Amino acid sequence: MKAPRFAYARPASVAETLALLARYRGDARLLAGGQSLVPMLNFRVAAPKVLVDLNRVAGLSGITVAADRVRIGAMTRHAELERSPEIARHLPLLAEALPHVAHPAVRNRGTIGGSCALADPAAELPACALALGATFVVAGRRGDRRTPAAEFFTGLYSTALDPEELLVAVEFPLPRPGYASALGELARRHGDYAIVGVATHALVRDAALHDARIVFFGVEDKPVRAAKLERALEGRPVGAIDAALGELDADLAPRADLHASAQTKRHLAKVLARRVLAKLQGAAA
Ligand code: FAD
Repeated sequence: MKAPRFAYARPASVAETLALLARYRGDARLLAGGQSLVPMLNFRVAAPKVLVDLNRVAGLSGITVAADRVRIGAMTRHAELERSPEIARHLPLLAEALPHVAHPAVRNRGTIGGSCALADPAAELPACALALGATFVVAGRRGDRRTPAAEFFTGLYSTALDPEELLVAVEFPLPRPGYASALGELARRHGDYAIVGVATHALVRDAALHDARIVFFGVEDKPVRAAKLERALEGRPVGAIDAALGELDADLAPRADLHASAQTKRHLAKVLARRVLAKLQGAAA
């Protein structure tokens, strides 16, 4: 199928982008890497009056390491993150996740901003953002606002972004000494969206987990923290994981999809959690 007719605008600044969004109200769509939006247009799932292309907007791309955080511009491509020594050094969870995001051709164009704004429930980067306690920097007509990842993802393909706002960056706190991370997913083929995935981050001391953040993706309609499992594991050796896994029955309310029933997802979540939490302990060694 072909996309419906639309106008096209190519702003050069955030201010110009916001003016276009205000002018078209809910009828504009931002174009980042186009890896999800272009298929949506071609299948006529989206039919905006205008596409506002972010690819020439100044200041939206790049990785900056500051004293306490890593700021990643919304238009930074997956491939740039994947190759970045700063990401490998400071945010190893992202470095581990990126090879799971689609295929090299998609990663060459797709952006972290597009991925988080789309909020596919099975996507890796939103789950990493939640596991690492990231903050979303959003520009709107009243200036910038910051939204924690826990409030940014609101449901199936939905976020706290207003149609007249623009995601400009994602900021990740620099992990403190002793913290480690690990990620795993089960997918039909490498590069497919996850059937079930889990992103974890914790302080690992004397073989015990502290302050763990365990985030599942592909299970519910948005990335979800396993709060009861996190509490059950506090201060416990990773060897205690088997006893704690039952907590996931209360933590997760899996949603069946084309690939698996809710019951299968619940089973896979436990299998994966056991595997990834063991890896987390190893990652700290
Ligand atoms: P676009 O497609 O340009 O935009 C997506 C949506 O986000 C649009 O609604 C757009 O308006 C909005 N948007 C974009 N940027 C902003 C912004 N700065 N502010 C506000 N709104 C914005 N992703 C995964 O996570 N895991 C996978 O396994 C995976 N597999 C894939 C396999 C294939 C074959 C394909 C084609 C894609 C796959 N993807 C996967 C999606 C890929 O990661 C895309 O890059 C991502 O979904 C969207 O990023 P984009 O930059 O292409 O955004």
